[in-house]
Amino acid sequence: MGLYSEMLDEQRIKNMFQGSKNVLVITCPGCACESLSYSDDLPCRSLDQNKDMVHSAIAVHRIRDKWNKILETMNINVNNISVAFPCEMFDTEREGIWKKLNDIDTIAILACSSAYVAIKGILPEFKGKFIPMMRTVGTFVFTLIKDETGLNSKVDRKTAKIQRFLS
Ligand code: SF4
Repeated sequence: MGLYSEMLDEQRIKNMFQGSKNVLVITCPGCACESLSYSDDLPCRSLDQNKDMVHSAIAVHRIRDKWNKILETMNINVNNISVAFPCEMFDTEREGIWKKLNDIDTIAILACSSAYVAIKGILPEFKGKFIPMMRTVGTFVFTLIKDETGLNSKVDRKTAKIQRFLS
């Protein structure tokens, strides 16, 4: 079971970037990736055994790349980092993020609500903006199948079970 997160409305995300000049987008290759594989019908992960969690994640990085292009059209400078499991970070991950923060005025989090809270919490010295790009709306149980190339997994949308939180 993982956390099921959905993208916030595109215009709402764009509005939050108003005034930003240098952005660091932090992605999580964990259950945010399965969530986006399901919601956007994208390959989830490469099945290449030589790739680690970060490098095998496809869906979350495709959406990140899409947003990189959108932000560039808004004249915003974009940097990226993938952090495996912001919900349970070592100090070394904090240092990795900290090193990328030169001139950054906005940190955008392409991951679940837990990642948003965690990343905000470990960077109290950062005085810029934090922008959530997804919100967690429930939990999932997914079955993975191979995609049409046979090289990647994807979420089987027919058997997907999503338990939404009561609102
Ligand atoms: S940070 Fe969120 S999206 Fe990433 S693995 Fe943890 S619970 Fe899943």
